[in-house]
Amino acid sequence: MHKVVKKISLFRESLKIVWESSPGWATANILVSVIRSFLPLLLIWLLKILIDGITKAATSGSGMHSENVIVMLIAVVAVYFLDEAFSDLSGYIRKKQSLDLEVYMYGLLHSKSVKLDLINFEKPEYFDCLTRAAREAPWRPNIILNNLVAFLRGLLSLLLMAGLILSLHWAIAVVLLAANIPSVWLRLHYAGILYNFQREQTPEARKSAYFNWLLTGDRPSREIRLFGLGNYFIDLFKQSFIRQKEDEINIIRKRTLIELVSNLFKASAFMAALWVIAGKTINGSLSLGQMAMFLLAFRQGMIYIKDLFSSMAGLYEDSLFIEDTFEFLSLEENIKVTAPVVIPSPLTKSIILENVSFTYPGNLIKTINNVSFEIRKGDIIALVGPNGAGKSTLVRLLCRLYDPDSGSIKYDGDNIKNMDPDEYRKFFSVVFQDFMLYNLKAGENIRMGNINEKESYEKIRSAAISAGVDEVFSGLPDGYDTVIGNLFNNSRELSWGEWQKIAIARALYRDSPLLILDEPASALDADTEFEIFSRFREIVRGRTSILISHRFTNVKLADRIIVLDKGSVIETGTHVELLENGGTYSKMFLKQTNMFNK
Ligand code: ATP
Repeated sequence: MHKVVKKISLFRESLKIVWESSPGWATANILVSVIRSFLPLLLIWLLKILIDGITKAATSGSGMHSENVIVMLIAVVAVYFLDEAFSDLSGYIRKKQSLDLEVYMYGLLHSKSVKLDLINFEKPEYFDCLTRAAREAPWRPNIILNNLVAFLRGLLSLLLMAGLILSLHWAIAVVLLAANIPSVWLRLHYAGILYNFQREQTPEARKSAYFNWLLTGDRPSREIRLFGLGNYFIDLFKQSFIRQKEDEINIIRKRTLIELVSNLFKASAFMAALWVIAGKTINGSLSLGQMAMFLLAFRQGMIYIKDLFSSMAGLYEDSLFIEDTFEFLSLEENIKVTAPVVIPSPLTKSIILENVSFTYPGNLIKTINNVSFEIRKGDIIALVGPNGAGKSTLVRLLCRLYDPDSGSIKYDGDNIKNMDPDEYRKFFSVVFQDFMLYNLKAGENIRMGNINEKESYEKIRSAAISAGVDEVFSGLPDGYDTVIGNLFNNSRELSWGEWQKIAIARALYRDSPLLILDEPASALDADTEFEIFSRFREIVRGRTSILISHRFTNVKLADRIIVLDKGSVIETGTHVELLENGGTYSKMFLKQTNMFNK
């Protein structure tokens, strides 16, 4: 019972979506469907009158000029034309409605996926859920509407047709119904099996999609060629793909075999109907026109019942698949504002981390372990430490892309959990280690740093000059208006270091009071790096900044250096203080300088 209630509520939700996405086209779809359910019956009835008229004209000798025959001929053709015309119109309306719905559903999916917590991207179940939702969402609600309309249309037509068939013999109507039951059972039974199969196959499907990307994507293309990995991944793809499809084919093969048997039932029903109609016509209780009408009505009735049952089975199938979409749309966002709500404003004093700990889902060891430190307004802080020490994770916690498992981050004294994450993040600008490349215009790539601000060429250019990329842009065929990247026609690809400069320019373009640079010079040439870091204070213009770098020559300029190891703060101080202490920092520093001196 609970399951039925749930399915009904899923249908209600789906229909609400269909309606909201396009009320006008949904109404048109329903209206045309209702009209289409009457037309075939009307056609059959007119054909009966026509055939009887022709028979009469033939026996009375009045020939083709019988007025009745001509009128009926015109009427039959007119209804036939209308039936065809409405069928085409219905096709157009459905297409238009599907388009509106697709746009609407993609809107829902995309808004949800950009809002969901970043932590979801660490969980394979999230990708499974997203994959299933993305596969179903754009079209499934419309299928539900179409199946519902087909169900109502089928029911209406069948009732009309049943009246006609009952007047022939009640048993024929029963046979008509019974003959279709095996195929409905079959469809319902296999809908469940196929759904469960597809659900279980999602991880495997993602795996083959991944191998496909490795073989066809731009990023992997170089390594695949250089290391000669093509055949290796072709095999992996093939194995994964065949694994999925073989099982599916087995299920479908079984279904097809049973379907053949179920079609025998239908053929027997047709035989019985033909028997009765032929017998009655021969013994004179049916006219030729009536015979034609019943034959057509029976055939049409079979089609209606098939449509009716198949729309019912389709609705059951839909109820299974649409659940995936709603499962995704109802995923909870945990990074949200909690009471008492504080409206953040630009930093006036400091950000304080108090005993912050964080572990990635599925990891056994804490990535950040009881970390406490203060970032005062205007400070330039450097975060250093070996690979995997937790520097980038700390940045994500600071920007509230993750929430700590314990401890707190206080922004001017208020816990950042009490702030709307979007509002809070407005005060941050970050060059991530894995910064983004946007295949858009060069200038637009910088403007992405603050898309809500009115476009200002001067400001974009000034950020480009600070990051040392103005010269590169000026040399492009259309300057700042050149599309960069390699995805689109007439675009120009840049070097990795040039992309990194753009990422720095993008971060500078955003007038945020806090600036975080995670390994911003990893791909820069020595000149550019020197140019940027020798003017670092001037470039950041008094903003509170956090710099992550493995290069100690860059780190030296910080007001305070925080040394992390295995998720914990092991030292803090200025460059000079840390050298004097002779601890980890000084050892790392000496190792690096000795290496360069050699
Ligand atoms: P690097 O200097 O190499 O950039 P880092 O100090 O920035 O390193 P983090 O990227 O914060 O280190 O990673 C810290 C640890 O957290 C790593 O050892 C890694 O195992 C784990 N880790 C990082 N990202 C994830 C993730 N997305 N999911 C699970 N664990 C992660």
